Amino acid sequence: MVKFGSRRADTPCVNLQRCPYDGTPIEAEAYSGGSFLLTCTTCGAEWEAHNSLVRRLGEPDWDRARVARATADATVESAPPTPA
Ligand SMILES: [Zn+2]
Repeated sequence: MVKFGSRRADTPCVNLQRCPYDGTPIEAEAYSGGSFLLTCTTCGAEWEAHNSLVRRLGEPDWDRARVARATADATVESAPPTPA
């Protein structure tokens, strides 16, 4: 019998993996003092992650984020269903 719920391996939603503005996978770069510098290559937004704190350093380029998001949506919508 396996018990679930007593210990969870997943961390709370503090580690950004995708840009919240355009969904681009974020690049993490080790920083000094155990911090990480997270950057989105699409819109240029930057965050600093330290322990469980994530702080935004730089504003995204909203136009680029919007275009990237629109492109992603269009790709999903136009994709034909894959036959099994
Ligand atoms: Zn972005």
